[in-house]
Amino acid sequence: MDQLDKNSLKPVFDKMLSKEEKEWLLKQHSVMIWLTGLSGSGKSTIAIALEKELHSRGLLCCMLDGDNIRSGINKNLDFTTDDRIENIRRIAEVAKLFMNIGVITIAAFISPEIVMRELAASIVGKDDFLEIYISTPLEVCEKRDVKGLYSKARKGKIDDFTGITAPYEPPLNPDLTIDTSDITVEEAVGRLLELVLPKIDTRR
Ligand code: ADP
Repeated sequence: MDQLDKNSLKPVFDKMLSKEEKEWLLKQHSVMIWLTGLSGSGKSTIAIALEKELHSRGLLCCMLDGDNIRSGINKNLDFTTDDRIENIRRIAEVAKLFMNIGVITIAAFISPEIVMRELAASIVGKDDFLEIYISTPLEVCEKRDVKGLYSKARKGKIDDFTGITAPYEPPLNPDLTIDTSDITVEEAVGRLLELVLPKIDTRR
């Protein structure tokens, strides 16, 4: 898009119903619960269990998961640094759409670099961004090898595999850290509920 086209954009965000008006309807405050960690650390498992738990309490959620997104809206993206950043940018923009209609959004993405998670937080708004570090050690993730990817990466069949041939930068100041080699899925969800319920459930 050239400069002229960009200048002719006239966003109407200020004329639309606000996030607060949508939240009032749903009786909840929408936040982004962003799970980051190595492949196999437990992000999807915890996100699915958390979504079910919140739903059962009458709270409307949407879960965005790495493989779902990469097989749909982001299927044209690869695992190069540029594409990983574009992957996160689009996810955050989609999350923002959900959050603006009051929906609690749970994201399960490796999102290996600090800069990627900062980008996501800046798009959705830092005040409503909860960074959850699923800190399960590499050895445990590799032993689980849920998708057989670690074994392939060790054999050199996958380039730029996070934790093996590509870096993972842990969050410096996460809102919560969960090591799934120490606790069960139910316990992990319990800790998340303690953190998020006071922020999201406006009926309390
Ligand atoms: P990720 O989304 O981080 O790639 P997954 O959730 O797909 O990870 O896989 C994690 C695997 O670890 C699953 O097979 C899950 O059953 C297993 N697992 C074992 N213990 C736990 C736990 N306490 N919390 C979450 N997952 C666990």
